Amino acid sequence: MMSEPEHGPEKDVEYHPNSRFSQEIAAEPGGEYIRKCIQCGLCTASCMVANYTDKYRPRRIIQKILLGEREQVLASELPWLCMTCRLCEERCQEGVSLAEIFHVVRDIAAREGRVPKVFKDTVNQVLKDGWLLKDAFSDFIQDDRTDLGLNPEVNFDGEFVKKVKKRYFEQGDKEEVKDE
Ligand code: SF4
Ligand code: SF4
Repeated sequence: MMSEPEHGPEKDVEYHPNSRFSQEIAAEPGGEYIRKCIQCGLCTASCMVANYTDKYRPRRIIQKILLGEREQVLASELPWLCMTCRLCEERCQEGVSLAEIFHVVRDIAAREGRVPKVFKDTVNQVLKDGWLLKDAFSDFIQDDRTDLGLNPEVNFDGEFVKKVKKRYFEQGDKEEVKDE
């Protein structure tokens, strides 16, 4: 008896999109999945982010890559919204990893200095305060922590934040990730 293929009968089928951008994506590790997409839309139907906002349509981003819309894709914040939850990949019958494709898109965008401002701001906030939600820390949270038997005061280890900055951002005491 024949065994069931992992991702259905079309698992190993590859197509050869001929836009320059799709070839650029396919040449990067993880980007080769772009050759398998048949534009069925099951990913969009499965995606929690797409469920939350009409703006985010993973199938459409893939379509733009296939059509060679390089500028539009790299200038967009949308590929940065993928949470890498891989729910779409559980459902895609062609075995496409959208998370890997969007990683490649973000890598290329970052190399070209196109990280969206909101993400840079987020990193800078963490580098400055040691966490993202310092401004949201309130009496209510302190009360909750007390009820849970936790120390209501949250102290951040400034030395640790400094080490992280130095190691991953190579800027020691400097405060900000600069705009390119
Ligand atoms: S589910 Fe898979 S094949 Fe269908 S559009 Fe999404 S990535 Fe492409
Ligand atoms: S991996 Fe990205 S595109 Fe896929 S379901 Fe999760 S958020 Fe949506």
